Amino acid sequence: MYKTKAYTAASATSSLASDTIARRDPTEQDVQIEILFCGICHSDVHSVRNEWSEFLPTTYPIVPGHEIVGRVTKVGSAVTKYKLGDLAAIGCLVDSDGTCPNCKAGLENFCPNQVLTFNSPDKHKTAPVTYGGYSDSIVVDERFVLRIPPNLDLAGTAPLLCAGITTYSPMRHWGVTEGKKVGIVGLGGLGHMGVKFARAFGAHVVVFTTSPDKKEDALRLGADEVVVSRNADEMQKHAGSFDFILDTVSAKHDINAYLNLLGRDGNITLVGAPPKPLEVAAFSLIVARRSLSGSNIGGIPETQEMLDFCGKHNITADVEVIPIQKVNEAYNRLLKSDVKYRFVIDMASLKSE
Ligand code: NAP
Ligand code: ZN
Repeated sequence: MYKTKAYTAASATSSLASDTIARRDPTEQDVQIEILFCGICHSDVHSVRNEWSEFLPTTYPIVPGHEIVGRVTKVGSAVTKYKLGDLAAIGCLVDSDGTCPNCKAGLENFCPNQVLTFNSPDKHKTAPVTYGGYSDSIVVDERFVLRIPPNLDLAGTAPLLCAGITTYSPMRHWGVTEGKKVGIVGLGGLGHMGVKFARAFGAHVVVFTTSPDKKEDALRLGADEVVVSRNADEMQKHAGSFDFILDTVSAKHDINAYLNLLGRDGNITLVGAPPKPLEVAAFSLIVARRSLSGSNIGGIPETQEMLDFCGKHNITADVEVIPIQKVNEAYNRLLKSDVKYRFVIDMASLKSE
């Protein structure tokens, strides 16, 4: 066991503040990583504030952060894929049972015994729960460590580990390809990655935003059209026309307004995780055999596939790099949709604490 610096929150109403936490020494199959950058996902905010108390209650203190890039500083004796000095990345998962049908299919993201990067019971008993990436270093089983394509900017790569895979995976699953009309609802961290991937897959991309000032950016990011969703006339123009819509909104909103935009057999996938239930009108679905589904990050093989795809197509997130001392301010800005388009913490700033 060793001590390392981290930012922790002590309760649902506390700010994040500098602290010291315990990590395990690397076991045989572990990799120890010095964290260089960590993205700020809206899930970090939901978790710190215990907004998902019904589904995933928070144990305090919490160390959030699951968009991690860094450099390997130690490897266990049985580690084969990484060596000292390698760049490496960690997403939302740090362990799973490896034996269930989901794990066997490379879908560790649906394993009933998955261990999340933060706020999951710590099977090594170093601490009550796992601690995430707002920290100097992390120790992770090499099976959950990912390789970073060498051409990508590191700060812009961090968000790929959650925002990237969470948008890439459902679009692959639902067949987003050339000729498909695809909607992206909400232009935040997930949404802006959704736009980049949908564009790269060759689809016709329409962004739905509540923030008119994001219109130009949406087009620059790859959208063919932008709709300000509070404008009913603009929405109506697209009625019944979409093959697929990805909904990334973090708060309660009217899902029927988007279901009505789907064509026959169209699908809307929720990746946004508002704490309160959304109401669905049966007629929004039955009139055109539409479907509503959800998706949770992605498995480890697909996360590596996504990173390699990003390397090949030079895709990274548009980031605002901040020192960790500004993390509480960044959370408040996320709640106001004031993000362009992912905050990423430069972890060097933690060294001065
Ligand atoms: P984010 O950066 O804060 O973006 C969310 C966007 O949703 C905002 O920028 C805003 O876009 C829109 N929005 C926010 N409040 C709204 C409201 N009341 N009505 C309509 N639109 C609203 O958040 P994120 O990091 O992308 O995460 C989005 C959601 O996905 C969160 O709930 C997060 O927990 C969840 N998530 C799920 C998974 C998964 O595996 N399923 C993984 C990661 C995150 P506009 O300004 O364009 O309207
Ligand atoms: Zn996330």
